[in-house]
Amino acid sequence: MKKYFIYTFGCKVNQYESQLISENFKKNNFERALKPEEADVIILNSCTVTAKADKECQYFIRKLSKLSRKPKITLTGCLVKNKNVSLSKMFPNIEIVTDKTTLFNDSQKQTVSGFDKHSRVFLKIQDGCDSFCSYCIVPRVRNVLWSKPENEVISEIINLVKTGCSEIVLTGIHVGKYKGGLSVLVEKIVQIDLDFRIRISSIEMNEIDDKLIELMKANPNKICRHLHIPLQSGSEKILKEMNRKYSKKNFEEKILEIIKALPDLALTTDVIAGFPGETEKHHKETCDFVKKLPFAGFHIFRYSDREGTKASQFKNKVPSTEIKNRAKDLFEIDLIKRKIFLSNNLETKRKAVKIGVNKALTDNYIRVETDTPEISKIFETKITENSKI
Ligand code: SF4
Repeated sequence: MKKYFIYTFGCKVNQYESQLISENFKKNNFERALKPEEADVIILNSCTVTAKADKECQYFIRKLSKLSRKPKITLTGCLVKNKNVSLSKMFPNIEIVTDKTTLFNDSQKQTVSGFDKHSRVFLKIQDGCDSFCSYCIVPRVRNVLWSKPENEVISEIINLVKTGCSEIVLTGIHVGKYKGGLSVLVEKIVQIDLDFRIRISSIEMNEIDDKLIELMKANPNKICRHLHIPLQSGSEKILKEMNRKYSKKNFEEKILEIIKALPDLALTTDVIAGFPGETEKHHKETCDFVKKLPFAGFHIFRYSDREGTKASQFKNKVPSTEIKNRAKDLFEIDLIKRKIFLSNNLETKRKAVKIGVNKALTDNYIRVETDTPEISKIFETKITENSKI
């Protein structure tokens, strides 16, 4: 039997799509290889969201080209869609697949039948973004807005739960753009009478409506007490330059309203360090703003130019050493935020799902150690000193 190996870079949507590709290979009588050395075909599902993501993928291709077995290498994903990267010149011996859906079993009906022995899985409900934040390459590589029909989402969830999944992360490139409204979909999902929960992945602040907050409040067992709401900067000027669609005031009001309704929520965010034109003063404003808001932690991205974006044309680029220093300041605040959130939750009991041999994830995004054998059930656990967020 021929073997395939699939390597996924980047976001949750890519991970879901790799599962679609994987199922197609299995349907065509391929077996999954555990190592690239064993494979006849290697698929690289790439990402191009940062310069680092580009480099990682290119490094991996170079490494694979040195394998003695010489498998067929197929490269697909956002890096391929980014026309500014001349991959065919760089790697003449690999197959480049621009339309990833041709690797799926069914490009129209994108549904997976299961995720082998995983209790926490990603479910793609939406694709595409047309928001054009000035730093972001995504609307150029995933520009078609697509939403999975409601009935397909519901039947896919039922099937995933029946095959042993207990946490389903609703995933998309811009989930708030789900056609018909995300809260309308969530309202239908919570009515499914099975033992599972959903987690809403990254969502823009102005796409969280009152109904979604009400649903979270009314269904603590079905919707995880966690929201990831990207901030990106705490400077009014930089937010405008970034083409983000809110002011600091809007953001703060919304966050406080959400926390008031859901006091035990884990609230996480994204922040970009060193956006073009960001001065020391703007950076300090960001640091002060993230300190002030009740975040449980954040992801810090060092700004990198993405050719073709508006921000890449901006003058006043921040030197890379300065970007590093600013990211370091943010990491220090993040560490404190995480410690505070953990200590506030110490000794509390939360519902968790297994995410590794001895690891589980609580509804409020805390990783705990566990020795439970359950892989397909939600169980109660206690937050201890060894837990992490
Ligand atoms: S909302 Fe902005 S940051 Fe998010 S994918 Fe769209 S353009 Fe990129």
